[in-house]
Amino acid sequence: MKYVVVGLIIMSGLIFLLLQKQEAAGTTRLPCGVPATQVNPLHRDTLHKMQVPTRHSTKTESVPLTIDALHRWPTGKVTVYFMDIYDYELITKALNTANEWSAYGNIKFILTTNKATSDIRVAFRAGNGYLSAVGTHATEAAYVNHTTMWLQNLDKQPKDEFKRVVLHEFGHSIGLLHEIQSPAAASIKWKVPEVNAHFKKLYGWEPDKVYTNVLQIVPTNAYTKFDPLSIMVYAIPKELTTNLTADIEWPTALSKIDKETIVTYYPF
Ligand SMILES: [Zn+2]
Ligand SMILES: [Zn+2]
Repeated sequence: MKYVVVGLIIMSGLIFLLLQKQEAAGTTRLPCGVPATQVNPLHRDTLHKMQVPTRHSTKTESVPLTIDALHRWPTGKVTVYFMDIYDYELITKALNTANEWSAYGNIKFILTTNKATSDIRVAFRAGNGYLSAVGTHATEAAYVNHTTMWLQNLDKQPKDEFKRVVLHEFGHSIGLLHEIQSPAAASIKWKVPEVNAHFKKLYGWEPDKVYTNVLQIVPTNAYTKFDPLSIMVYAIPKELTTNLTADIEWPTALSKIDKETIVTYYPF
């Protein structure tokens, strides 16, 4: 997904502005993307030098979701360390919610109290909005002993938002990318100035961040037909495009395709 090159200071300012906006407008959503301080070089430019298909073939259509297939975890489990909360009830709630993925694919999020050997590290209090490293990129040098997923004060949000964000960010943590950035979403004809204005108003994003989180098609061969119901979409009003006939809504749960296809990447 994302590899926005902005400085820590800019990012901090953005989060500050977002929090202000959040208070002002009662907005509950924060942006999602790999933070500038944790940029992964492999995601800086064309991912892993893979070709971007210009159309989806029958072959790729049978492959699920949109995933960074090279950065899947081995099947079985991902161990999760919580960086800054000690509330067992919240930890349990987060893991139980995330583990809805494990009902459909052979990948289970398991609590660990050993930071040094943990696969992913989750922060609920540190600033950064909602962000996660993609798949096994979490094991790379920049992340060693550091947070790999930010769920900033998500526990203060309504229940539905908690569920959506946990499923989405843990989706990133097992390699999933934004469905609206799937090569299969390349048929969406964006009104770019309107899209930029929309996300500027919503999150304070500059056009480069809109590009890396929304407009840019990710170079992966692993995707299916576009799934507007995937937990990995952002809401998109159809007016931001010239060819969507219905709004893409914020998802509230794993979609049918999410559920049916994650097993292809994490087979039992
Ligand atoms: Zn995301
Ligand atoms: Zn990757």
